[in-house]
Amino acid sequence: MKCIINGKVILKDRVAENLAVIFDDKIYEIAELKDININDYEVIDAQGKYVAPGLVDMHCHGYLGEDASDGSTDGIIKMAKGIIENGVTAWCPTTMTVSKAEIEKAFDCVREVKNSDEYYGSRILGVNSEGPFINAAKKGAQAEEHILKPDADFIIENSDIVKLFTVAPEVDGAAECIEKVTKKTDVLVSMGHTDATFEEAMAGIDKGVKNTTHLFNAMTALNHRNPGVVGAALSSGVYTELICDTFHVNKGLFNLVAKIKGDKLCLITDCIRAGGMEDGDYTLGGQPVHKEGIKCLMPDGTIAGSVLKLNEAVYNLYSNSELEIFEAVNCASLNPAKALGEDSEIGSIEKGKRADIIITDDKFNVYTTILGGEIRYKGE
Ligand SMILES: [Zn+2]
Repeated sequence: MKCIINGKVILKDRVAENLAVIFDDKIYEIAELKDININDYEVIDAQGKYVAPGLVDMHCHGYLGEDASDGSTDGIIKMAKGIIENGVTAWCPTTMTVSKAEIEKAFDCVREVKNSDEYYGSRILGVNSEGPFINAAKKGAQAEEHILKPDADFIIENSDIVKLFTVAPEVDGAAECIEKVTKKTDVLVSMGHTDATFEEAMAGIDKGVKNTTHLFNAMTALNHRNPGVVGAALSSGVYTELICDTFHVNKGLFNLVAKIKGDKLCLITDCIRAGGMEDGDYTLGGQPVHKEGIKCLMPDGTIAGSVLKLNEAVYNLYSNSELEIFEAVNCASLNPAKALGEDSEIGSIEKGKRADIIITDDKFNVYTTILGGEIRYKGE
């Protein structure tokens, strides 16, 4: 068995020192260092760094030149191995509003990789299907010609692999779709790319919406007389995704959203294939995108996904809010794990959970990623 010592261990409700985190594929024990004999274990010395739970990215389209919508198993594997370096130990490959045939092919690729024995990248929880059931008025970087009327059966038929999907609650057929999917599956329904009024959004929540796709982006804004989807997300109990790259959402709002949403706040990357790559020209869902620094824009200036890394998102939230470090970490581990119904297995350093553990410095740069008890990444 392995044992991590000399770390500041980020537990779900505090940071603790002088602990030994003992694990094989699962976390066997979190003991006081003085109570164990370290000679009994293969010791990993954290050298005073943070020992944190592996991160969970529920909304990630691409990385290292690859995109989940490409329909390539090799691409999914390359992304899954790449994001381990950012501390992501579980994720949802995320499709765009492309043609139905392309979406189905992407689902098949994710199925194949998820069920493969030889695969050892970041654990795939299932697909996040972002669209095609959205509102053209808030399409953002999604292709309008591929938008479809909400179809519950499409999600139900693919519910073995679809973990969550985005729907605009106000469009024709959405209410029936949300209700049917909620009744027949445990797929998480997320409202997004939506032009709904506050009332329409709240009606969607009544029908079964439990998540918000990238809060503030591609939805009706908060106005005191027309609170919009943002108002519905903030005033109800739904989970809310947030792209904490300081560009999609001004960092001045991070503290406010964190205070309001608490353990319902989920950091995501919304990363596209330009993630981890040089500045230059890329594509997203078949459309051209230019990356410059942290910005990805379409030729008309529309924001098209991000190049954010989830460990950076944690530090951006932590350094721009009053949250304790363990609370900021929960937003990228335990909270998304809960939203996806996976928190009995992953999301925190707790006895009995999978040994998905990362070691980071104070700025949350990742030095080591442990996946199911095996060291899968070791930085400088
Ligand atoms: Zn997205």
